[in-house]
Amino acid sequence: VDPFLKLAKQKQKAQIAFLKEMVELETPSGDQAAIGKFNRLLKSRLKGLAVVKEVPGQHLVIDFQLGGRSNGQILALAHSDTVWAKGTLPNMPFKQFKGRLWGPGVLDIKGGIAQFVTAMQMLLELGVPVGKNVVLQVNADEEIGSPHSRSLTETMAHTSDAVLVLEPGSGLEGKLKTARKGIADFQLQVTGIAAHAGVDFSKGASAIVEAAHQIQSIAKFTNLKQGVTVNPGVIQGGTRDNVIAANTTIDIDVRVPTKEQYIALEKKFASLKPKDARCQLHVSGQMNRPPMVRTSAIGQLFKLAQELGGEIGLDLQESSTGGGSDGNFTAALGIPTLDGLGCVGEGAHAPHESVLIDQLAPRTALLAKLVAALGEA
Ligand SMILES: [Zn+2]
Repeated sequence: VDPFLKLAKQKQKAQIAFLKEMVELETPSGDQAAIGKFNRLLKSRLKGLAVVKEVPGQHLVIDFQLGGRSNGQILALAHSDTVWAKGTLPNMPFKQFKGRLWGPGVLDIKGGIAQFVTAMQMLLELGVPVGKNVVLQVNADEEIGSPHSRSLTETMAHTSDAVLVLEPGSGLEGKLKTARKGIADFQLQVTGIAAHAGVDFSKGASAIVEAAHQIQSIAKFTNLKQGVTVNPGVIQGGTRDNVIAANTTIDIDVRVPTKEQYIALEKKFASLKPKDARCQLHVSGQMNRPPMVRTSAIGQLFKLAQELGGEIGLDLQESSTGGGSDGNFTAALGIPTLDGLGCVGEGAHAPHESVLIDQLAPRTALLAKLVAALGEA
């Protein structure tokens, strides 16, 4: 039996207990008291294994003390925040049931943290030399787009040789992620002319009717074959039904596999013309997460993981996704990034969020092997 897999199984009970502690501390994005508590839990549980530093914004930089020399750096990424509001636990308690662990944040991403911490404990106990710094960065704002932690992630990535993202794998096969779409938010503001709907109808120019035309055009920007999606997700406008609406705002979620496609879309948005010449259009938009494009270095990192997984009976596959992670930022800087290395399960952001228990040990062993192999280079 592989020594990593054997030790991971021995540690599973303690690992699940640690994961339970983390899940039972609810950590909605933006709840400073809750995230502070969570950070203190990590600090106390990592004593003797790592130096835990909290930086402004409540992000954690966790430096594992594996005894090796520091010739380069391996960066692992996770986050402390979840999408779940405080008070979710009573309806969705942590439990072990049907071969799975359940609870808010168990898959996204606290299980990933439990796996990585256990993997580092294993390296220390097995006396495996790691010739690189190993740092786990835990961001407090990932679920709201990482507005504050982004610069820290980029700074940390610049001095790293590889980035391992502890987000869940894809599907119940737990596929690794080697590409992610870029995510942009666009907003279209339509300005019309207000008028009394009964007295001055023809003096009005309805921003709502104009917006309805524009939405038809915008929806056509989607190109599923190319992986480009454009979703007008929120519209707001008008005041009363007897007033011709002067204002409408449309919020649009845009996903693109490449930066070039984003630039092409920007041009399309800029070329929108009002159908009613009395209305005005104002478009704004920006890329929040650049695309993670599968480079050959990312392909190599995946191959390494696949090879190491093969030693412990894992048949790892790769996948691409439309969802973003902090791996988008590091990959965009050209740092080899492998994502989806966290737990195997399903239901992230959904009430059936759960983790497959029998995949905990192999995925934990995989992380240990991956860090050991990267630390050799
Ligand atoms: Zn996540």
